[in-house]
Amino acid sequence: MLRLPPFTYVAPTSLQEAVEALQTHGDNAMLVAGGTDLYPNMKRRQFEPKVLVGLRNVQELREISGDQEAGMVIGAGSTLREVSSHVIIQRHYHAVAKAAGLVSTPPLRNMGTIGGNLCVDPRCNYYNMPHQWRKAIGFCMKKDGDICLVAPGSNRCWAISSSDLAPVVVALDATLRLVGPKGGREIPADEFYRDDGIDYLTKGRDEILTEVRLPPADGWKTTYWKLRRRGSFDFPILGVAACLRLDGSGEVRDARLVLGAVSSRPLEVDATGDLLAGRTPTEEDLEAVAEAAFSLAKPMDNADGHFFWRKRMVRPYVKGAFKELLGMEG
Ligand SMILES: Cc1cc2nc3c(=O)[nH]c(=O)nc-3n(C[C@H](O)[C@H](O)[C@H](O)COP(=O)(O)OP(=O)(O)OC[C@H]3O[C@@H](n4cnc5c(N)ncnc54)[C@H](O)[C@@H]3O)c2cc1C
Ligand code: SF4
Repeated sequence: MLRLPPFTYVAPTSLQEAVEALQTHGDNAMLVAGGTDLYPNMKRRQFEPKVLVGLRNVQELREISGDQEAGMVIGAGSTLREVSSHVIIQRHYHAVAKAAGLVSTPPLRNMGTIGGNLCVDPRCNYYNMPHQWRKAIGFCMKKDGDICLVAPGSNRCWAISSSDLAPVVVALDATLRLVGPKGGREIPADEFYRDDGIDYLTKGRDEILTEVRLPPADGWKTTYWKLRRRGSFDFPILGVAACLRLDGSGEVRDARLVLGAVSSRPLEVDATGDLLAGRTPTEEDLEAVAEAAFSLAKPMDNADGHFFWRKRMVRPYVKGAFKELLGMEG
């Protein structure tokens, strides 16, 4: 049985107290929300914080407000169950509700939060293993070692962004609010992520993600498709977040596509808008978008399923997601 290492748990009851606790304990401290990602990682000694600053009692982080006209504000401490079952989110931000509802299993969605999900540690078959296993093969640079075991000639880590909601918030052009000792700031969701399996967030260690702000729905239709071996439980090995806005005649005004789990950050397929805008999409148009996504996606051999199979699945998943949005036959 894997056991947690000893640590001190601090339980602030306000955001201000949480910020102060992080500042007081500096590099020894980490935040914990639901703990569904962090505690298993600590059991495997991927993280060894001396102090955990728990966010569960910070009520300010638990609120969900707004509507489709004004946009929604989702507190980072809202559970995945609360997000996936919220009626306005379900109706007007379908991709958000769907992605939250596809994370893992019901017990984990009752504990896991949207903030924790967006900050989930990138994954790799050589890293998400018990300490003894990693020691036996020689550690890698993400923890305790100095080389990459997937790409030994590489000077960076290629661990995979494995959050279901990360590609969705980037595709929806959401804004994230961060609060730290110097006050608050807001950044577009795509600026929250770095293409680096170790230093994967632009957030400072002393900053807390407090809110996910969704823009007004404004005619956007959104969806999320997830590839995984088992229909429940598993992390994504491909995520497809697709958004589309039509004009009155059925022509596409705007379209966006972001892939998850094929690189260390959500991967934006920038060509999508140009390929679809002004068109009443045909099978061939969707194939062109699928091809653009296929060429960009470069999954590595460090997750479940053969990496080339994961790459090949990009085409049908992208086509399927846009067909769903367009109401086209599968
Ligand atoms: C068996 C299993 C299956 C899983 N399947 C999936 C899956 O299919 N898809 C998926 O996306 N995830 C999956 N997960 C991971 C995890 O359960 C979810 O991502 C969950 O949403 C994490 O939220 P949490 O609140 O539990 O995060 P925590 O574990 O509490 O924290 C995760 C990370 O985020 C940081 N953090 C938490 N809250 C904040 C905040 N407000 N501000 C700044 N940093 C913060 C923590 O310091 C930590 O680094 C799975 C986990 C397990 C154990
Ligand atoms: S990609 Fe390389 S460095 Fe990163 S976790 Fe995997 S083996 Fe380690």
